[in-house]
Amino acid sequence: MATHRVTLIPGDGTGPELSEATRRVLEAAVRATSGSTFEWDVQEAGLDVMESAGTPLPPGVIDSIRSTGVAIKGPITTPIGTGFRSVNVALRVALDLYACLRPCKLYPGMRSFFPDVDVVVVRENTEDLYVGIEYEHDSPAAEEVIELLNVLQDKKIRRHSGISIKPISRFGSERIVRFAFDYARANGRRRVHCVTKSNIMKYTDGLFLATFREVARDYPDIEPRENLVDATCMGLVQRPTEWDVLVLPNLYGDILSDLTAGMVGGLGVAPGANIGTEAAVFEATHGSAPKYKGQNKVNPTAMILSGALMLKHLGEDAAATHLEEAVAAVLGAGKSVTYDMKPDRNDPTAVGTSQYADAIIEKMEA
Ligand code: NAD
Repeated sequence: MATHRVTLIPGDGTGPELSEATRRVLEAAVRATSGSTFEWDVQEAGLDVMESAGTPLPPGVIDSIRSTGVAIKGPITTPIGTGFRSVNVALRVALDLYACLRPCKLYPGMRSFFPDVDVVVVRENTEDLYVGIEYEHDSPAAEEVIELLNVLQDKKIRRHSGISIKPISRFGSERIVRFAFDYARANGRRRVHCVTKSNIMKYTDGLFLATFREVARDYPDIEPRENLVDATCMGLVQRPTEWDVLVLPNLYGDILSDLTAGMVGGLGVAPGANIGTEAAVFEATHGSAPKYKGQNKVNPTAMILSGALMLKHLGEDAAATHLEEAVAAVLGAGKSVTYDMKPDRNDPTAVGTSQYADAIIEKMEA
């Protein structure tokens, strides 16, 4: 029995209603198992505080997460044309949340073309083409870079090209690969697949793979597999049950985690976490779906399952399993589910966000 201090960021758009449903379900999960409780430090971020605070990410939010070490977050709209960057990206950078964890599991009752999927995507979050070092075509800087590179090697880059830089370091590769192996070991997984295009990008993806091979020696109980990203896409849809934990550089991780989310029923049910050494932030894959704001309509499954990941992270394994089983049972029954989980989206028997949470709580308390 413990009291867990957790930062709760309701977010904006549909975020607050999703967060409220998730908070209630998480409290019920620990109540029904360990008897632990939560001490929520509620922190506002996003569009709703932008006017009063002058920023969508008030400094108190990061201070709170640094102090609690754990946050659960509703989605936050990226303000357009205001000069503010995405709060989601800002949090990842400020807290160095280098690992993006996306488990994709098919529960009964989900709409999918696949009979069985249970894969975990571990995406590197800080390097690769996402560092944002780019040179616009025809800019003086781009022409300078092209000139320099054309001197350094035989292959010539065409003039008037745009350039994006893809840095991958040994440090960044090692910590994400270790994260994937540690996750596999802690969660009873048997294989870790390193997914790259190392046959083409020898010094970036090649370094990632070479690091994977070295790190794998420290985990003799986990089978290391090496896969090319194109073949992985085909393999995932042709033989979904052959895959286990996938570790990937940033870009491939971004793309493949959407592919695997689609295989298990889409954004409404895809949980996630961004994890670093000093903090972990748990959040759904989807955005703030602002057109449904305040309608008690959208599906909180992705955020609730993100909450189940958080329970595991907090050492509340029994509560996490209990919650996941209750979610699976309610989805499987197909009765008290939100509109997007019904075969027909206009089905009048669909329930609201809050009533779906009630059904999960009822199942846990039965
Ligand atoms: P979105 O995920 O918010 O919505 C796209 C569509 O998916 C919605 O219109 C809705 O039909 C459906 N959908 C999404 N979540 C759902 C749910 N829980 N239940 C039922 N249906 C759901 O994507 P978007 O419209 O591209 O983004 C809206 C805003 O959210 C943007 O500002 C974007 O930057 C931001 N965003 C935030 C996060 C985050 O907070 N981590 C992630 C992605 C996007």
